Amino acid sequence: MSTTADAIASAEAHSAHNYHPLPVVVATAEGAWMTDVEGRRYLDMLAGYSALNFGHCNPRLLAAARKQLDRVTLTSRAFHHDRFADFCTELAALCGKDMVLPMNTGAEAVETGVKTARKWGYEVKGVPDGHAKIVVAADNFHGRTTTIVSFSTDHEARDHFGPYTPGFEIVPYGDLTALAHAVTPNTVAVLLEPIQGEAGVLVPPAGYLRGVRELTRERNVLFMADEIQSGLGRTGRTFACEHEDVVPDVYLLGKALGGGVVPVSAVVADRDVLGVFKPGEHGSTFGGNPLACAVGLEVVAMLRTGEFQQRAAELGDHLHRELNLLVGGGAVTAVRGRGLWAGVDIDPAHGTGREVSQRLMERGVLVKDTHGATIRIAPPLVIGKEDLDWGLDQLRAVLAT
Ligand SMILES: *Cc1c(COP(=O)(O)O)cnc(C)c1O
Repeated sequence: MSTTADAIASAEAHSAHNYHPLPVVVATAEGAWMTDVEGRRYLDMLAGYSALNFGHCNPRLLAAARKQLDRVTLTSRAFHHDRFADFCTELAALCGKDMVLPMNTGAEAVETGVKTARKWGYEVKGVPDGHAKIVVAADNFHGRTTTIVSFSTDHEARDHFGPYTPGFEIVPYGDLTALAHAVTPNTVAVLLEPIQGEAGVLVPPAGYLRGVRELTRERNVLFMADEIQSGLGRTGRTFACEHEDVVPDVYLLGKALGGGVVPVSAVVADRDVLGVFKPGEHGSTFGGNPLACAVGLEVVAMLRTGEFQQRAAELGDHLHRELNLLVGGGAVTAVRGRGLWAGVDIDPAHGTGREVSQRLMERGVLVKDTHGATIRIAPPLVIGKEDLDWGLDQLRAVLAT
């Protein structure tokens, strides 16, 4: 058996099968490239679902992590540590908000957002205790905890994980009228992805996010934007909400915030919202640890210059121009997205999304399919233009067969 086949066989034998990875076993990576255990090189066009916006083993982020590794990595929040204040201050400033509540994974940020909105609803808005409602969108992806899958519309994500957490109202994504009908005096928040990544990189109709902002402001409801995948440069702006000049009440951040090095997530909001938490009411052993803060602080510093956002905007324009040329040519039925982020719908005659991903892998390009017929393209923002063009050549070659 090959090294690759060996590694896959033992992973299959000793790990739960909650994923179906492409048959590639990565050993090392740098920038936009990964190398497998047999020395083959692959262009990473997925970037860890945007956790790797700054590329693999980014030298600045590794330097920040290494420096912190030799100082202190974990204190728990029982004590202060000297990286915490800087991280929270700088991240809050990047978001134009007052306060940060650091957690680890994206799902924890969403859970924390749900708890924030409920507590705000009871203590600030005056909703009767136990009656808070949060309005969410169909086809959402917000993570995998039992509460979060309670308001998923994806059967694979939800089935046989009940009983489900109540208190959520699901409306079609992009439909302002449905949203307006769903909001009641007991509604505490509207929770949305400004672009739905997992659903296939769905960009809402123009004016939708602005409409959500106006409606939530009028009805005294928090607008919580899950920017865990769409945020931190991916779409050509720091936040996808900026494309409609919208500032939500609450940002939920994760993925790229950890620089591809450690899991770092956060809820970011003003004092009138995050101020609802008092000592003992919420927490996390690892949330806001020194290593996470050191890496997260460097991520924020890198985003402050705007260079990654600009790169994503420029290369993204190029990516979408090239992908749009494929639409109508037979193999591609639609392309959506913003910046260096695209959902490409494949005509079933040319294979499923999985089959196209497999054929791309054989040509040295790694992408991920979603919902059967779609492939997602989201390379690290540090990808070179020549590499991006080479990846697109491979896609054209795969679709020509
Ligand atoms: C990935 C993701 C999450 C969950 O993040 P985890 O770190 O996997 O828990 C939540 N929301 C969105 C939009 C995501 O893309």
